[in-house]
Amino acid sequence: PERNTILLNVEGLSKSFGGLHAVRDMSLQLSAGEVVGLIGPNGAGKSTTFNLLTGVIQADSGRVVYRGQDISRWISRDVAQLGVARTFQHVKLVPEMSVIENVVLGTHLRTRSGAIRGTLALNSSEDGAAFAEAYNKLERVGLSALAYEPATTLALGQQRIVEVARALCLSPALLMLDEPAAGLRKSEKEKLAELLQSLRAEGITILMVEHDMEFVMGLVDRLIVMNFGSKLAEGRPDAIRADPEVIRAYLGG
Ligand code: ADP
Ligand code: MG
Repeated sequence: PERNTILLNVEGLSKSFGGLHAVRDMSLQLSAGEVVGLIGPNGAGKSTTFNLLTGVIQADSGRVVYRGQDISRWISRDVAQLGVARTFQHVKLVPEMSVIENVVLGTHLRTRSGAIRGTLALNSSEDGAAFAEAYNKLERVGLSALAYEPATTLALGQQRIVEVARALCLSPALLMLDEPAAGLRKSEKEKLAELLQSLRAEGITILMVEHDMEFVMGLVDRLIVMNFGSKLAEGRPDAIRADPEVIRAYLGG
């Protein structure tokens, strides 16, 4: 897609849990090829926003339009098949499976038949191709040496990176990462930053929730700040860093 074409348009999204307004009248746009950070204090509604955008939960009101198509009522598997891939803040790997088997689940999500067959035995040549692709993605994220280890033997930070590899198996146009750098060592963060730069160079649009400001500031074109379920501010990293309201609500520490 060309730059500056709107990839994702979110209008007036709201979600309450009981009396709690977790997300309130959230609107945002992503242009194709952009890398955008979604930041804000704990409980601001960032992960809930991700869940609303990817069909994990349904909004009370508002619209999510992806490439001109209203996907507000779509379920998560269908959103994934459109090429909107994500990772979870609370890692969702299958503990009984090896690292590579967890990544293969991503390739199975890509096709409708695969999504159904994903629960069946892995034996056809198509599955051989899926394993090859999964291994390739693990190489790309720097974890192929651990491909055949049980998923749960990895550190939590590494498990998050396995989720990135799984998401890449969907050949995403939009990649949404929920706190990808959490729990990573400095050297691992540097590798992740390099990976995200290379994905950006391929034209993949990235929306990323992240608390590590050093990490996020160096990567993003733009930041969106949430507080109490709503958008507090939006703009280039330098402007956001200097915004008194953002400093008061979040960056002031
Ligand atoms: P963030 O990711 O910005 O830290 P969340 O989106 O996870 O924030 O949460 C926003 C608010 O919604 C929090 O107060 C959280 O406790 C609440 N919340 C999130 N998911 C649920 C849920 N499934 N049921 C009830 N409350 C929820
Ligand atoms: Mg969160």
